[in-house]
Amino acid sequence: MSHMMDTYNRLPVAFSHGEGAWLFDTEGKRYLDALAGIAVNTLGHAHPRMVQALSHQAGRLIHTSNLYRVPQQEALSDKLAEISGLDEVFFCNSGCEANEAAIKLARLYGHGRAIDLPAIVVMEKAFHGRTLATLSATGSRKVQAGFEPLVRGFARVPYNDIAAVEQLAAHNKNVVAVMLESIQGEGGINIADHDYLRALRRLCDERDWLLILDAVQCGMGRTGKWFGHLHAGIQVDVLTLAKGLGSGVPIGACLAGGRAAGTFKPGNHGSTFGGNPFACTAGLTTIRAIEDDDLMNHAARTGEAIRKGFRESLGGTAGVADIRGVGLMIGIELDRPCGDLVRHALEAGLLINVTNDKVIRLLPPLIFSDQQVRLLVDGLTPLIVRFLAA
Ligand SMILES: *Cc1c(COP(=O)(O)O)cnc(C)c1O
Repeated sequence: MSHMMDTYNRLPVAFSHGEGAWLFDTEGKRYLDALAGIAVNTLGHAHPRMVQALSHQAGRLIHTSNLYRVPQQEALSDKLAEISGLDEVFFCNSGCEANEAAIKLARLYGHGRAIDLPAIVVMEKAFHGRTLATLSATGSRKVQAGFEPLVRGFARVPYNDIAAVEQLAAHNKNVVAVMLESIQGEGGINIADHDYLRALRRLCDERDWLLILDAVQCGMGRTGKWFGHLHAGIQVDVLTLAKGLGSGVPIGACLAGGRAAGTFKPGNHGSTFGGNPFACTAGLTTIRAIEDDDLMNHAARTGEAIRKGFRESLGGTAGVADIRGVGLMIGIELDRPCGDLVRHALEAGLLINVTNDKVIRLLPPLIFSDQQVRLLVDGLTPLIVRFLAA
């Protein structure tokens, strides 16, 4: 009997090592990784620069605590400020922690403006994490059920519906922020309209609200730009990152700029592990590799090639409802629940995911090659066709 708490239904496979977009299981079988540890392994597996930088750092220092200066943290915050245009960075270890920081920041911001019970507008189908505050912000009953009482102070609206937010603004005087993913990941690769994001920006400016973008999944170059919202040409007040930031080493970040900057003061928030030299080395190495190897343009092109490939191979197939995505955040929506496909793909040596029951989700590492695009399209298409015909 396993002593592990029963929180995951795991597939019957364990990996021993990886190389680029390939993973090898303990039996020696090879798998093409089109999931990247759920958008985490930005540079794939065992990237030489990562191996070099992390081995070096592990041999010097892993952790010292935030009681002291951490030069790697200072360097990574400079880099994140440069690529985001935001002023300040708080480091933590995961996406939910980055969002917890954003939620606390928004509440503190509200209290600073004499709003005693601040509310944050959140979206249907949103996913923000599994801690109490972030599951309360999440728009999925499956995530919340059994954990009531939920954290108060969230007002939910449909995604991509600016009128719903305006209506809320007219009635709820406690709103201090809007929090959303510019591309919903867990919710099924749902893409916010650029006009909608711009309208949210305007509304937040008019009302003095904070615009909080959860880029935990759609950040770090995956969509062809550093962060998903940049496709709409807007700036945000608070930005949260994690998943792809450390290419596999746990690290999260909450960035603030504009009127959100300067909200946290010493004592307001903290993290023992957050921003340690090892994790920040992973973050810096990831960003430098993305820049040096032009991986954002590569992600944009590769994502387009994958969508084109599936449109050609699956277009017009009964049961395929939609093929969509931005860069390497890709969804193939079927007209029926298709969780079984994950196992079929595994048997065929392909690692994929299904989210929101009906959406095949592909999140390959940013180093995915043209040849791997072909292998993915040619390998997955017959599995989908056979699944739909069964
Ligand atoms: C995965 C995810 C989170 C939660 O991140 P954890 O590291 O699992 O806590 C939050 N927001 C979004 C958009 C995510 O995709």
